[in-house]
Amino acid sequence: MILVTGGAGYIGIHTSLQLLHEGYELVIVDNFTNSSLESINRLKKITKKQFKLYHVDLLDKSALEMIFRENKISAVVHLAGLKSVGESVRFPLEYYSNNIIGTLNLCEIMKKFGIKSLVFSSSATVYGENNKMPVTENAHLSTTNPYGRSKLIIESILGDLYKSDKEWSIAILRYFNPVGAHSSGQFGEAPNGTPNNLMPFVSQVAIGIREELKVFGDNYTTRDGTGVRDYIHIEDLAKGHIKALSNILESSGLEAYNLGTGKGYSVLEVIKTFEEVSGKIIPYTIVDRRDGDIAECYADPSKAYDKLGWKAEKGLFEMCVDAWRWQKNNPNGYKNSNSKEEIIFT
Ligand code: NAD
Ligand code: UDP
Repeated sequence: MILVTGGAGYIGIHTSLQLLHEGYELVIVDNFTNSSLESINRLKKITKKQFKLYHVDLLDKSALEMIFRENKISAVVHLAGLKSVGESVRFPLEYYSNNIIGTLNLCEIMKKFGIKSLVFSSSATVYGENNKMPVTENAHLSTTNPYGRSKLIIESILGDLYKSDKEWSIAILRYFNPVGAHSSGQFGEAPNGTPNNLMPFVSQVAIGIREELKVFGDNYTTRDGTGVRDYIHIEDLAKGHIKALSNILESSGLEAYNLGTGKGYSVLEVIKTFEEVSGKIIPYTIVDRRDGDIAECYADPSKAYDKLGWKAEKGLFEMCVDAWRWQKNNPNGYKNSNSKEEIIFT
């Protein structure tokens, strides 16, 4: 059985879907601080598969331990965490506590039960500034905010853990910019309040929830002056977890992998592609740069291909098509959906 922490969230639900398709037995744990039971209900409906769900907070160590006692877990895919950079600047203690103590609790209990296989969600944010692009896993690590620091600290903790016991098998996945939605239109990103990220903001402008996009700076040294990022389709990202999981189940070690496409797109290119896909005009104005933003960031994903046999397949056009389908089908995300919520807590 595979334990997925944060399995009701944006990346967690797509990863869980993929794991169920691949025939894995699943236990999902989530505290639903940033997700909804509706995503779990849809997962059940679309896969027609059984899995266990625990409404548990990773900070509740005894509840977490109970999950390990009740299930024969062989590996953990650990996605639970708080993820907003801006929020982390305002609430650093909550971010450090949730992300770091949650992970420590999880690792301590895994150790107690002799389970040493772990896939961990890290982020390209650990690369900070001044790295040569495309960035490889060996690049200098640094970060400018508590969220990024929580990821860097966890990466160090996992490194120390592996050094102390070489039986651990840990894959650190550094995601670039996950976007888009499941091609069924049933699962996607459902940000609370005003989206911080480009793609959900653009989608909400296209559907008319927001009037215009603010483009943060057009004077970067990039091809059109706007910021360049490596957007990766959420389904490709989910598949990366399956490859990493089967790899760690076979051998011990600790490795970090970039999960990106290797190709960067500018803000204006994203706007143009979204307009093409949706048939809508995306009004925008150029404003000052956003604090902490860098000009460009894109991956060298060759290590994931060489060692895991994983490669992103979908391009920006499909990312926008799927994001737009999700936005049209679910203008309020998982809220106010017609399907009745079933209570399926374990
Ligand atoms: P998300 O907020 O949609 O999902 C995270 C899930 O974890 C949510 O369902 C939330 O309720 C749950 N959670 C948070 N703290 C918990 C706790 N203490 N106990 C139990 N459950 C808890 O975010 P996501 O986009 O799916 O991100 C998943 C992981 O990937 C996070 O660790 C995030 O930092 C990382 N990541 C995300 C991105 C991105 O752009 N989405 C990029 C890089 C890394
Ligand atoms: N961006 C923008 N307007 C927005 C949100 C983002 O111009 O409302 C830009 C941002 O400056 C960056 C790119 O879009 O160049 C991707 O930003 P996002 O927040 O999605 O990802 P991250 O900054 O974490 O890579």
